[in-house]
Amino acid sequence: MSSLLVKNADVLVTMDETRQEIRRGGLYAKDGFILQVGTEKELPTTADEVLDLSGYLVLPGLINTHHHFYQTLTRAVPAAQDANLFNWLKTLYPIWARMNPEDIFISTETAMAELALSGCTTTSDHLYLFPNGSKLDDEIHAGKEVGIRLHASRGSMSLGESKGGLPPDSVVDTEENILRDSQRLIETYHDPNPGSMLQIVLAPCSPFSVSGNLMRESAKLARQYGIHLHTHLAETQDEEAFCQQMFGYRPVGYMQSVDWVGKDVWFAHSVHVRKEEIKIFAREACGVAHCPSSNMRLASGIAPVTEYMTAGVKLGLGVDGSASNDGSHMMGEARQAMLLARLRAGLEGASLSGQKTTPLLTSRQALELATRGGAAVLGRSDIGSLETGKCADFIAIKLDKLAYAGALHDPVSASLFCSPQNVDFSFVHGKMIIRDGDLLTIDIRRQVEKHNKAAARILTN
Ligand SMILES: [Zn+2]
Repeated sequence: MSSLLVKNADVLVTMDETRQEIRRGGLYAKDGFILQVGTEKELPTTADEVLDLSGYLVLPGLINTHHHFYQTLTRAVPAAQDANLFNWLKTLYPIWARMNPEDIFISTETAMAELALSGCTTTSDHLYLFPNGSKLDDEIHAGKEVGIRLHASRGSMSLGESKGGLPPDSVVDTEENILRDSQRLIETYHDPNPGSMLQIVLAPCSPFSVSGNLMRESAKLARQYGIHLHTHLAETQDEEAFCQQMFGYRPVGYMQSVDWVGKDVWFAHSVHVRKEEIKIFAREACGVAHCPSSNMRLASGIAPVTEYMTAGVKLGLGVDGSASNDGSHMMGEARQAMLLARLRAGLEGASLSGQKTTPLLTSRQALELATRGGAAVLGRSDIGSLETGKCADFIAIKLDKLAYAGALHDPVSASLFCSPQNVDFSFVHGKMIIRDGDLLTIDIRRQVEKHNKAAARILTN
């Protein structure tokens, strides 16, 4: 690969240890890795590819830590629009059961394209249904087309209705099959090296769709190969009641009982947690994927974001599946995180003393969750900030937009306080995938057509 010089950005946000922001900043990269970050005077003067970003804000590429790409086929389904989690799932399981391998491929392309345009350069996904011969391979192949980094989670469900679980028996699999396929995927695809474009994660779906035995066995297998573990946890009060009744523990206690705590584990949501459980996450170095839009959409509750940050819990952001958001806009999600944390602070302050005592989450803190925070949650030390040795994953947003008019005294905050915008440039591992707002890797118009056809088929079948 060749060298790349980016220069003159109005502000370049590094998200390095000192959170340095560089006016008239740029970076120099070679073979996908950053060799230098600084002002024009400090950087080399030539490279194979040179881009002047005067008039732009440059940020590290955003990192999405929780999603279900396939759900882009079932956005805004009328019967699931106004339901809580358990009813929403029960409405959608039979529709999802009609998907085939091509549907997984198409929905992955759509979700990743939407993520990329909204500033995401690394995403995880959690696929836990494999109907009609679908495999995680279908998602992996589609992901390569779009060109952003993928942490593909091999999800699973083994606890059907007949065994006391929530999903219908038709969408669950045997534990033997799940573990065999998990091992095959790790051995075929997982790349642990710096700059990795693809990692495999093991991700039994949730306490109410998987047995304790599968949780334990998945953890054993993941640790044998040094890969990460992911699941939904403490999302709703229904789940809490389920765990207490079925396993005799609250959700976090149940995770401890099945050996699911540690630096290789991250949980989606974790809304309903007590103070002592936050301490357990911090002590054990578990990560949390905060999904504010989904939590609001399903009326699940407000996660204790400020408390997690104060306790030192690794915290990232997730747009969550597109049937409970119903979008994959990372900039928008960071904005939601900032606003929802402020609402919680306001409610808490009012309930404690009538005064707002909890500090408000700042725009820069929300951006940190979407970058450095996400990298820590996924266990990546090579992404999440723009500094020497890190991957050249960055985005640029043009600042002379209508949405930012009147906010240019602080372009960094403008990117979150003002209406969320798509990005104008995106580079992954030094390679341009978005130029002047256009995704270069797939044809969006054809994609929308294919996607709508697939969605109509599974909804009306
Ligand atoms: Zn989810």
